[in-house]
Amino acid sequence: MKRFQLLILSLFLIASASAKKLNVIVVTGGHNFDRESFFEMFDSFQDISYTELKHPEANLQLGTIDLKTFDAVVFYDMPKTISEAEKESYYKLLKSGKGLVFLHHSQCSYQAWDEYITIVGGKYHEEKNTPQTSTYQHDVTFAVKITDQKHPVTKGIKNFEILDEVYGNTEVLPGVTPLLTTDHPQSSKIIGWTHKKENSHIVYIQPGHDKNSWFNPNYQKLVKQAIAYVSEK
Ligand SMILES: [Zn+2]
Repeated sequence: MKRFQLLILSLFLIASASAKKLNVIVVTGGHNFDRESFFEMFDSFQDISYTELKHPEANLQLGTIDLKTFDAVVFYDMPKTISEAEKESYYKLLKSGKGLVFLHHSQCSYQAWDEYITIVGGKYHEEKNTPQTSTYQHDVTFAVKITDQKHPVTKGIKNFEILDEVYGNTEVLPGVTPLLTTDHPQSSKIIGWTHKKENSHIVYIQPGHDKNSWFNPNYQKLVKQAIAYVSEK
């Protein structure tokens, strides 16, 4: 991003901040998606304004934007590799306590970066033919169970059904707090969680392949409340 573009972005974020909306950066790239429908969901969030950063520039841009101008970062990306310089952007976010929300295929990113699982809290293992190999299945209708209806991320949401892609045999770190589970045999049991890494609150939500989730009111509420929760200082 050029210096001028960065200035415009910063001004936009400051202007949005004054309207008392939460300002989020949405990081995309590395995996195809129906971007029109995806951002239709974000456009419907009245208390949230957003700026999209796309790979391959997104990671370095994340390290340059003034931390005071945004509240959280939502990752809907899946790049394969990350440079040492790009990792510094993550370290900066974690040190500053910026809230991070990871959606769907973002747990598949950076397969060779061992620390990434400790940031997301879980990992989809792409390596083939090992006991750890993860699986996916598209267009599955499954029941989502809320583990704690009082948690800020899930409050006001009852157990619900969703049509989405499921991931199976994913790794979930034992230290996370589960928020969403399912008993579907092709899915990992824990499909949503929260945890803390350094100073950042982090939420991961496994559903979110396409508009079947993005237009689901329960899913929309989950994403909104996850953003609000990780944004709290
Ligand atoms: Zn997917």
